[in-house]
Amino acid sequence: MRKKVIAGNWKMNKLTAEAVELAAAVKESLAQCADVEVILCPPFTALKGVGDVVAGSQIKLGAQNMHWEKEGAFTGEISPGMLKDLGCQYVILGHSERRQYFHETDMVVNRKAKAALSAGLIPIVCVGETLEQRETNQTEDVVTTQVTKSLAGLDESAFRRVVVAYEPVWAIGTGRTATPAQAQAVHALIRQVLAKVCNPGAAQAVRIQYGGSVKAANAKELFSQPDIDGGLIGGAALDAASFVDIVKAGV
Ligand code: PEP
Repeated sequence: MRKKVIAGNWKMNKLTAEAVELAAAVKESLAQCADVEVILCPPFTALKGVGDVVAGSQIKLGAQNMHWEKEGAFTGEISPGMLKDLGCQYVILGHSERRQYFHETDMVVNRKAKAALSAGLIPIVCVGETLEQRETNQTEDVVTTQVTKSLAGLDESAFRRVVVAYEPVWAIGTGRTATPAQAQAVHALIRQVLAKVCNPGAAQAVRIQYGGSVKAANAKELFSQPDIDGGLIGGAALDAASFVDIVKAGV
């Protein structure tokens, strides 16, 4: 049985005081919720504040990006060790906004995933097709390539810890959600690809989140699909009540 994992990606939102307030409200409502793994991913500047709020609770801390090197002359970058130092257990890698605006490639995501795992962080590796790719029947090829290249060369114990997030780019922040059937079809494909990249047993262990305009109203049906193991939540994670309702839909 894979434990569902639901992460809030706050993107470039919330000053420290606002982030602390949101984390405290989520923590208060989810104090009893041990059946789902909950992760909050605030911007770097609020990691310490949010980490202090969730310390000692079931809620875990995640970052939204990192560099692959341990240290050195990389102005403006943050290392895996720095995230660990702040109490992070997870890090989102290869989000479509990083791929689109900051030109991150599968090779970069692969380097980051390896560095995260070596540092003891669990990477949430994002994949997903654009609207144009879906409309020209390239979804399968695009997602297969992204998963294969992003997760190449991991040993099995590292591979089993990875979380994959399937986020169709056309569904992110658009209010347009993949139907449960559309999402399940791609999740099942991703699990087949994972089996080829590592082996079928390891593929069964990897959790695959869906992301793209998840709301309380559509979460339950999405999360009840056999290969959907939770969600990566953007906009709806910025409001405590909406996020909490989504988490409860995963129970
Ligand atoms: C995301 O950015 O990862 C995301 C899924 O955003 P939204 O829920 O707002 O579509």
